[in-house]
Amino acid sequence: MRERFNPMKSLIKDIGECRLCADRFAQTATAHKPRPVVWFQSGARILIAGQAPGARVHLSGKPFTDPSGDRLRDWLGLDEQGFYDRSRVSIVPMAFCFPGYNARKADLPPPPICGRTWHEKVMNALGEVPLTILVGGHAHKYHLGVKTPVTETVSRWRDHAPRVFALPHPSWRNTAWLNKNPWFEAELLPVLRQRVQEVLND
Ligand code: SF4
Repeated sequence: MRERFNPMKSLIKDIGECRLCADRFAQTATAHKPRPVVWFQSGARILIAGQAPGARVHLSGKPFTDPSGDRLRDWLGLDEQGFYDRSRVSIVPMAFCFPGYNARKADLPPPPICGRTWHEKVMNALGEVPLTILVGGHAHKYHLGVKTPVTETVSRWRDHAPRVFALPHPSWRNTAWLNKNPWFEAELLPVLRQRVQEVLND
């Protein structure tokens, strides 16, 4: 018997096979090939909208398998088992592939073509998700339509909670930011952790 067409499965397959940025990545210092890291499915309770995989995630093929992931799991109050439960948590970055490095060895921004090509399709396929967590300025811009700097957007987190939380990127590069903005850990994170538990236990 022929398998019934499943639009979500088909979309996941199409993104997994995407090679639109092959030429762009070939010109970076790492000259890597596209490797889309696709981690979402129907019925998720939490959407983590991130930036783009880093070099470690490019190798592992699994999102947030790096120190940024450790910090993000801590922020959310989730262990690895909960975080990687794809039936509950979808992870959709602004680009599905590692973009490469710039001259300062920092990650390049997510290629805009990825958002243009896939994001609306993914959001439509996911439908309503009770909690969306925006990780980093690129996700803030896309999902909130804001042009404000990250600190300002995050500091106004109460404007969007409890359905949406805007966070800085959990990269080690933002450790100084965290030290300068202690309200983030003292005020935002306890509310976020409580909300994560609420939507997972609902
Ligand atoms: S970053 Fe996005 S558009 Fe570019 S190859 Fe990967 S999946 Fe395709």
